[in-house]
Amino acid sequence: MKSKLFGSSGVRGLVNVDLTPILATKIGLAVFTFSEAKKILVARDTRVSGLMLENALVSGLLAGGANVNCLGVVPTPVLAYLTKKLNADAGVMITASHNPPQYNGIKIFNSDSMAYGEESRNNIERIMKRENFRLANWRNVGEALFIDESHLYVEMVQKIVKLNKKWHVIVDPGCGATYNIAPLIFKSLGCKVTAINAQPDGFFPSRSPEPNAETLKPLAKIVQELGADVGVAYDGDGDRVAFTGEKGDFADFDRVLAAYAAYVAKKKHGGTVVTNVEASMCVEKMVEKHGGKVIRTKVGDVYVAEAIKQFNAVFGGEPCGAWIHPQFHYCPDGIFSSALLLKALEDENKRLSEFISETLQYQTIRENIVCKNEIKYGVVKKVGEGLKSVFPEYRQLLTVDGFRLTLEEGWILVRASGTEPLIRLTVEGESLKATKEIMGKAVVLVKKVVEEMEK
Ligand code: MG
Repeated sequence: MKSKLFGSSGVRGLVNVDLTPILATKIGLAVFTFSEAKKILVARDTRVSGLMLENALVSGLLAGGANVNCLGVVPTPVLAYLTKKLNADAGVMITASHNPPQYNGIKIFNSDSMAYGEESRNNIERIMKRENFRLANWRNVGEALFIDESHLYVEMVQKIVKLNKKWHVIVDPGCGATYNIAPLIFKSLGCKVTAINAQPDGFFPSRSPEPNAETLKPLAKIVQELGADVGVAYDGDGDRVAFTGEKGDFADFDRVLAAYAAYVAKKKHGGTVVTNVEASMCVEKMVEKHGGKVIRTKVGDVYVAEAIKQFNAVFGGEPCGAWIHPQFHYCPDGIFSSALLLKALEDENKRLSEFISETLQYQTIRENIVCKNEIKYGVVKKVGEGLKSVFPEYRQLLTVDGFRLTLEEGWILVRASGTEPLIRLTVEGESLKATKEIMGKAVVLVKKVVEEMEK
């Protein structure tokens, strides 16, 4: 077992190398031991290893004494929503999200649809290390029931999103967990739907489960050639969404996030929006225009969700297409986000390209500097202190995830990579010249600190 099993998105690893059925059973036992849940929902995405891991996990839950409702293949947000709606004590999703097909993972949700936070994850990990599992008397082992309640999710979306226009939407589930429910929802909203890659296939033969400008080139082309209004694509488990516009253009993640956040702030006459430290400053520029304010968190949707709850925010999201609509549940929801975006376009009477065009585009540069794992966190701390003297005119310092300095003409973020021996630098500036200048000064500082600390 790896020293740290749970990351911010749960357990994630290579199937039958890191994540075996034996481990899945132990996770099941530990989840029950920790939560003492009477009723647990379990679902999976389309991965080849999904059923194998599900059976193992469910076995552990039943052995503890939980009653398990198996939802089969549904997107993560559907599992999270149903956990809350059906009054379950916990929900467990078997998915590796946007990772390649040889990976799988396990993510756990609370009864209120919020992913398990750090404390709960650490508690489960502790139980697993000690293997002090709670096992039921043979008379009290749990029962597993197979249920299909995803219509409740469809009804929720239908109730909230009313469209007047007959949008032509090209839906691309990428052979993942949204394969049937996403096209179904757009049809139920009155859209003309053309679905591609809509067969469930755990090998993800059509495109990578990670939707981005590169992997969605075929979708963008189809949208343009068919003269459709918009293309929507999801990651493997449907908590992320990416859009392509009517001209066959990929909608930049930061700009579409900022534009939608601004739309929410406008409707609510202000309010708090949450995003992570890596998102573009266009989020602040757009949200503040409508009287809203922005709070930034560590990278990871669970941190965004926790801050949304803490600050009673109206909306939150990360620039990978994971958007959270807290009025309904706390899990990022790609399908719901795409339906809500159409509603926003309709309310604003704009095409996607027009909706995004109001958001200014800035220049971003990223650089990685090699640095030994043992000293990388120390280096970041020292660089953080040094940055304040390199940029004495800085406006704000954030230390939630590395060091992030807001400057007159942009911002800089210095973080240690979570997995590799690297220091990651991100700079965004109003012009390429400003961005290069900021990066230049920062690189000199980081290299100097690395050299000093390696001595
Ligand atoms: Mg995902």
